[in-house]
Amino acid sequence: TKKYDDGLEKSRLTFGQRLNALFANFRSVDEAFFDDVEEMLIEADVGYETAMKIADELRDEVKLRNVKKPEAVSQAIVEKLVDLYGQEGQAEDNQLHFAPQGELTVFLFVGVNGAGKTTSIGKFAHQLEKAGKKVLLAAGDTFRAGAIEQLQEWGRRDNVPVVASAAGSDPASVVYDAVKRAKEEQFDILLVDTAGRLQNNVNLMKELEKVKRIITREVPAAPQEVLLVLDATTGQNALVQAKQFKQTTDVTGIVLTKLDGSAKGGIVLAVRTELHLPVKMVGLGEQMNDLQLFDPNRFVYGLFK
Ligand code: GDP
Repeated sequence: TKKYDDGLEKSRLTFGQRLNALFANFRSVDEAFFDDVEEMLIEADVGYETAMKIADELRDEVKLRNVKKPEAVSQAIVEKLVDLYGQEGQAEDNQLHFAPQGELTVFLFVGVNGAGKTTSIGKFAHQLEKAGKKVLLAAGDTFRAGAIEQLQEWGRRDNVPVVASAAGSDPASVVYDAVKRAKEEQFDILLVDTAGRLQNNVNLMKELEKVKRIITREVPAAPQEVLLVLDATTGQNALVQAKQFKQTTDVTGIVLTKLDGSAKGGIVLAVRTELHLPVKMVGLGEQMNDLQLFDPNRFVYGLFK
């Protein structure tokens, strides 16, 4: 919990300070005030549509309930943010889906280079292993120089085996080998890394589809999760990327990384309201335990603490 709160320090400063500044000059809830609220939310990367929506709803509510006190207005803003996230679906959407006990679970990690796929897999494998799961990793990013070694390094650190072949080889064949081994040796969970080059989008999307098809052919209920890894520091660009991935791959959830380095925690809401995808995990640093399951209430309230 402490890590969660510390990790959000920068986002909190931005949101919190802006909100305070907003109320420091507070005179009345007039049009200029709502404009300022909108601007604050946009700067925190909540997304344009979401910012407008919140400001509009706030306007109605303030009028309807005749709210005048700044504290009440401030509280209403925070509640709107929490509601907005909650409205978009059930609480269980945010949870990761695993296969029943005794069956193989496969998670596929996708996203552009540098988003944090390999690191997130490494951290997650560590946590699963510590929880007593038998974990296998597949080095499906055969394209980026160093990606295979990087995953193998995590494997050594986590004490988890890695299925890999030479750089440049067919990722589908690596994944096939990994699924086969996972079934034969009764692993609980297989985490699959994939390539994220953007230079050739069409080929990348085809490759991801092929990898996914192979997994499903071997294990019909898998992959249980296709997790799109997004770098929070890239802000609205992350949303554009996500839309591309979502069009061609059945993404089931988002892993939002580098929130520790980002002053823009509002991106979590943008992902939810504009992409209609749940954030399932957040990356709050580079250490083993810095990947955490996402808790919307704690997250939003954490931003304003
Ligand atoms: P990939 O190309 O998607 O596999 O990306 P990597 O896993 O290689 O990550 C790219 C860089 O981001 C590395 O230097 C990671 O250490 C760093 N990184 C990943 N996740 C986080 C995070 O949550 N916080 C911070 N501060 N850095 C991260």
